[in-house]
Amino acid sequence: MTRLIFLGPPGAGKGTQAIKLAQACGLAHISTGDMLRASVAQNTPLGEKAKGYMDRGELVPDALILDMVRERLSQPDTKSGWILDGFPRNVNQAGFLDQLLAEIKQGCDRVVNLDVPDDVLIARLVLRGQQQGRSDDNEETIRRRLQVYRDQTAPLIDYYTQRQQLVVVDGDQPMQEVTAQLQKVIED
Ligand code: AMP
Repeated sequence: MTRLIFLGPPGAGKGTQAIKLAQACGLAHISTGDMLRASVAQNTPLGEKAKGYMDRGELVPDALILDMVRERLSQPDTKSGWILDGFPRNVNQAGFLDQLLAEIKQGCDRVVNLDVPDDVLIARLVLRGQQQGRSDDNEETIRRRLQVYRDQTAPLIDYYTQRQQLVVVDGDQPMQEVTAQLQKVIED
């Protein structure tokens, strides 16, 4: 049974790697960013509330995220294991996840921090904005997202290090190499 959290800044390759590994290992890929973008695309009430925050590069308020994650982790495909991609994003969300996992009698095996230098991140995100047309991949929003990551998400590195769950993987390597190292984390 594999249950993993992918930490790491925007552009680190969390989504790309999570999709590959989830497919290869039969895990549910749970990306709160993808779920929110789907809600925005479908104009749901959640999407309407979340859109402004996403376009500014801010975190969507926890109140909107937590129910969404609770609901997702109750779905049957998560029973064989999961990768959380983009959640938790701050210490409050991490505390909520601890409680939720205790409630549903699940644990998380490893928290992977995909480490990539800022200049590489910015270059990747600008390119993704041009290729995929993601509205939050413009330079101003990218800088804000990196700042939000440093202020609110990076403290989770300490949080999970103290609990001896953190594994750091160098994300500034060829994609296959990163995948191979992540596969080792799963096998260990
Ligand atoms: P991502 O695709 O993970 O980079 O997320 C894109 C945007 O969705 C972020 O910049 C946030 O606005 C929002 N978002 C995704 N996950 C979360 C989360 N766990 N908490 C708050 N906001 C989130």
